[in-house]
Amino acid sequence: MTRQGLLIVISGPSGAGKGTICQGLLKKNKDLCLSVSCTTRPVRPGEVDGVNYFFVSKEAFEKMISENELLEYARVYDNYYGTPLNFVEEKLSTGQDVILEIDIQGALQIKQKYPKGVLIFVVPPSLSLLQERLTKRGTDSAESINKRLQCVCDELKNTQRYDYLVVNDIVDNAVAQVESIINAERCRPANFDIKKFLDC
Ligand code: 5GP
Repeated sequence: MTRQGLLIVISGPSGAGKGTICQGLLKKNKDLCLSVSCTTRPVRPGEVDGVNYFFVSKEAFEKMISENELLEYARVYDNYYGTPLNFVEEKLSTGQDVILEIDIQGALQIKQKYPKGVLIFVVPPSLSLLQERLTKRGTDSAESINKRLQCVCDELKNTQRYDYLVVNDIVDNAVAQVESIINAERCRPANFDIKKFLDC
């Protein structure tokens, strides 16, 4: 029986471990794919264009907005971030499940456009642990870390607008929880083309 691809959105504060969870999911589930976003933010050490993000200029990003090439986009920490529309539509139409690792503004746009989209919010076990993880990661300045921590409290207020909340204490457990969510969502009758199956 054919099934429509599932659009899975993973959000959460920086340092909550979204990226690690996504990598864990992709490693274990070859039938999942991750959408690579476009951004205007500078490349961080170790990041590769086309792998972590498509790094583009502000002008190029604004052109994509005006030409409706983005499924959703948002301004986060003074930079633009957005999901290329073509990639997602192509995968979903062939029954492939797509993961978007995006912020809350983007997630809520997705829910409006794709009510069947599954929104998962990942949180760290505590704020102090989050600060520790961000500092250890060493990719952001102290100013940037403070800015990100200030946003967390506001972000947490939006968790009720998500379908699921996953506490990332032990990564393997968090990955297993997200896999369970995805497996259950895959079984929703609304995602199947029953008429085609019954030939009526
Ligand atoms: P970072 O700069 O740390 O890679 O990402 C900053 C924030 O932007 C994170 O919350 C991340 O999930 C979000 N983000 C990354 N890509 C997208 C996207 O395509 N759309 C939206 N709305 N947010 C994104």
